[in-house]
Amino acid sequence: MSPMIQEFAASGWLAAVILGMLLMMAVAEIWHEKQLIRNTHDRYWWVLQATNMYLFEYFVDGDEMMLSEQCAKLLGLPNHMYQFSWIMERTKDKKMRRGLRCIQQVIHADPDSVTQIEFTRTNGEHAVYRVQNHAFRSNQGHLISIVGLLADVTEEVSAEKALRSRAELDGLTGVYNSGTIRYLVETGLRDHPEGKGAFVMLDIDHFKGINDTYGHQTGDKVLRHLVKALQEVTRSSDLLGRLGGDEFCIYLPEIPDEAFLDGFCIRLNKAARHMLTPDRVGCQGTISVGGVMVHPNEDFPSVYSRVDQALYESKSRGRDTHSILP
Ligand code: GH3
Ligand code: MG
Repeated sequence: MSPMIQEFAASGWLAAVILGMLLMMAVAEIWHEKQLIRNTHDRYWWVLQATNMYLFEYFVDGDEMMLSEQCAKLLGLPNHMYQFSWIMERTKDKKMRRGLRCIQQVIHADPDSVTQIEFTRTNGEHAVYRVQNHAFRSNQGHLISIVGLLADVTEEVSAEKALRSRAELDGLTGVYNSGTIRYLVETGLRDHPEGKGAFVMLDIDHFKGINDTYGHQTGDKVLRHLVKALQEVTRSSDLLGRLGGDEFCIYLPEIPDEAFLDGFCIRLNKAARHMLTPDRVGCQGTISVGGVMVHPNEDFPSVYSRVDQALYESKSRGRDTHSILP
């Protein structure tokens, strides 16, 4: 072989070796990067398990859904689902549909918004979860995936609710307290300026005597039972509140006419008489009732003052009766 050919062959080998090495380095680099991505991914899911977070990620292009262990358990779904949209449309399984509906709600919420989902756990308990969603996009703005992060706020929400009702309701009887009922009636009067409603006030007769003769506990029992009687007569749209002491009021936002109000007051007197009996509460109790039709555009102080007069009239007429004033 001529030295020229030999030289050419040697440089060819060298080039091939260099190319091979470069290729190996590139493969190693790609493998390393893949490893890093896998590590990041593993870390991400490990953190989820360790922190007991409920998380799912929906990969848009692959129509693929991944759920953390806890999240899958919570929603009654598998950890990994391909053809997610297809499953969502076709599945007949009731439990799965419930979980899928939760996810759908989050996926379709505004990006980076916080929503609240409510559902029944597999053990039948009511659950409330606060969900935050985030959309991951490529540099070109293409939507890659949507992540949903769920946090159990069931206790927080029920504590808030309990706090709110403690502030809004009367502790002894469970009806609206005076501040709340006043606010609600004021709002009702504003919402019904046409004046088709009625306002009723009632007070237990000789309640001081009941307390003095039978004791404060019997008095409290009378108050609680009276509320039961009032609740039997009122509808869910009526507002019932305790103005203070033994005085209650009822706002009826819309009634047909004064004859209806008359019948309503008669029913109140009757219900109280039947509820406050010696075998139920330890003594016989009665109430006096006053009622007025609300005038168009009338405000609370005006209605209150008129109904107060109506109640006073019932007391003056001997109690256990009702009066309606124009
Ligand atoms: P009238 O027929 O004129 O209404 O006479 P009355 O004795 O009922 O007089 P009044 O309505 O002024 O009496 C209210 C009494 O209610 C006075 C107070 O001791 C009692 N009271 C107020 N709040 C409570 C309560 O939460 N529990 C009990 N047991 N008694 C209460
Ligand atoms: Mg009284």
